Amino acid sequence: MIADKLARVHERIASACADAGRPVQSVTLLVVSKTFGPDAVRAAHSEGERRFGENYVQEGLEKILALPDLQGRIEWHLIGPLQSNKTRVVAERFDWVQTVDRLKLAERLAAQRPAGLPPLNVCLQVNISGEASKAGLTPREVAAVAHAVAALPGLALRGLMAIPEPAADFESQRRPHRALRELLEELRRDGLPLDTLSMGMSADLEAAIAEGATMVRIGSAIFGERPRPA
Ligand SMILES: *Cc1c(COP(=O)(O)O)cnc(C)c1O
Repeated sequence: MIADKLARVHERIASACADAGRPVQSVTLLVVSKTFGPDAVRAAHSEGERRFGENYVQEGLEKILALPDLQGRIEWHLIGPLQSNKTRVVAERFDWVQTVDRLKLAERLAAQRPAGLPPLNVCLQVNISGEASKAGLTPREVAAVAHAVAALPGLALRGLMAIPEPAADFESQRRPHRALRELLEELRRDGLPLDTLSMGMSADLEAAIAEGATMVRIGSAIFGERPRPA
């Protein structure tokens, strides 16, 4: 069952890449396992998935610890809000943090990343649709924070992440994704070696890929509806 759903998601990615004239390897699937247990992660892992995204630090940590035999064989991404007082365990246990939305958070993660580990990969989260309720830097704030984060030891700034406001039709879905891509292109022109545009979820991955997403974050299309909202 999960094998079928994963195959379907990979087909959607491949077909969106074909439509955009992009190689299928240019898009990475991040499997969003929030609210589903370690068994769901294990099942997706045995289908060949290696990257998993979690929204809650504690829930993610419990899953990491529940799968000791997969340690080092899964790349764990934090894709939910991070409070300053929870950075240490994230710096120690996760491989990526996609939700850095202030310099202070990056400074703590940098200071707390253990010396023996490779740099922690980070994306800046951008509030690309300008929603009052949403986390993320405003587009105007991004450049200054990006340059400051890029200078920190212990971190590798990889790119930008956003959760655009849901939209029903393809063209409206493309607009915020395009804005995020243009922001990334500006940073690259400014000399930052960024390679990651994390955007696109179950409902809008085609629009995200059309606009250059390099990582799509997919939950419900793989695992079904979540037992509780998250
Ligand atoms: C839950 C979540 C996803 C996955 O959403 P689906 O619609 O279930 O694919 C992706 N990104 C973030 C940040 C999420 O919180």
